[in-house]
Amino acid sequence: MNIREKIPNLPEIHVESNLNLLLRRAKENRTVDIEEYETTGGYSALKKALKKFTPEDIVILVEESTLRGRGGAGFPTGRKWRFALMNPPPRYLICNADESEPGTFKDRIIIERDPHLLLEGMIIAGYALGAKEGYIYIRGEYPAGYMILENAIKEAKEYGYLGENILGTDFSFDIKVYRGAGAYICGEETALIESLEGKRGHPRLRPPYPAQVGIYRRPTVVNNVETLSNIPIIVTYEQYFMNIGSSGFYGPKLFPISGKVKKPGVYEATMDITLRELIEMAGGVKDGKKFKAVFSGALGVYSEKDLDMPMDYSPKGFGGTGTTIVLDEEDCIIDSLLVIANFFHHESCGKCTPCRVGTYEQLNILKKIKEGNGTEQDLEYLKHLAENIPSGSICGLGFSAPQAIVDAMKKFPEEFEAHLKGECPAGICF
Ligand code: SF4
Repeated sequence: MNIREKIPNLPEIHVESNLNLLLRRAKENRTVDIEEYETTGGYSALKKALKKFTPEDIVILVEESTLRGRGGAGFPTGRKWRFALMNPPPRYLICNADESEPGTFKDRIIIERDPHLLLEGMIIAGYALGAKEGYIYIRGEYPAGYMILENAIKEAKEYGYLGENILGTDFSFDIKVYRGAGAYICGEETALIESLEGKRGHPRLRPPYPAQVGIYRRPTVVNNVETLSNIPIIVTYEQYFMNIGSSGFYGPKLFPISGKVKKPGVYEATMDITLRELIEMAGGVKDGKKFKAVFSGALGVYSEKDLDMPMDYSPKGFGGTGTTIVLDEEDCIIDSLLVIANFFHHESCGKCTPCRVGTYEQLNILKKIKEGNGTEQDLEYLKHLAENIPSGSICGLGFSAPQAIVDAMKKFPEEFEAHLKGECPAGICF
């Protein structure tokens, strides 16, 4: 049975692109099978890679492309690969498909609609890294994506793109898919590796980094879905990849936009686009309401003054996964922060006391403020927590848990002051 018959109803998510690179086959709400993928140029980058380039050539291409990891941290992909190559084989490749930050649903579009793009990127990456095996760790809440990937792997094997002696060469590579069980922390690469090894998904102390000591104690590269899906584009375009975008942060980028915009969805653009332009691309704030803020997933909070910032990884750029949740004048900053604080409290794995206890304290103080019982001392305590949670934490969750609160206190002090007086500017808390 064809995969489209097995999974007839993918979620309706609006997709738009003026680049037609990562999303060129993903505009329609259906899965592209291997035949359609091939007839639209799919797997030609893999053929080119195996015929024209050595593994080292591919690594140099990725280094020169300056591709940044699209999972949030923005670490240079080529540098990560080079670190792994400095360690002896066997090496492993892991695709992080545990996309679980609030408001983030961009990798899902590639997985569900164009799975062979991801597989092609992984196979080329496996070739470059001298890996024989790769794993996709997909979040448990993407059951359709899991089935689609399993089916795509089967198709790729039947067509000779995966398995033993790929396309008649001496390069062999296999991919296995694993489902997570719904923990945000398993998107952190060392927790993901622990989970893949069958253990509790707790982050490891670093160093050593996965590129040195990863899965099964072997050098491992962990890249996310969007990052790996850029690899066929780099191999296809070579140095012309640097013509995509102009800010020094090259290549296409996916931006998931939700909240109070007219056309929520996933947008593909270059990273020199500004936050304002991106919101305009999504139709602007809906129902004629006034823009209030952007929450970038669970991390930063941006105000009107930030609208002209580029969506790149520069110190003054938006960075992260590009997740954009738009709030309008009818939304309350404190109420929205409470959602984020609840998320971090729920998702803290509990290994580090400052994160485990601090996220609980943040949540309780925000509840107090929202109910109109907050005090100036509570605000001071939030600042104290913001300084001490990151410094006593070992992973990104603890580093970023107070970030949205810190940003909101700086950019929307009037919202806090009003709530201390028992008033909510949006009129929803009391
Ligand atoms: Fe777990 Fe938080 Fe420590 Fe990360 S910082 S390991 S989520 S307790």
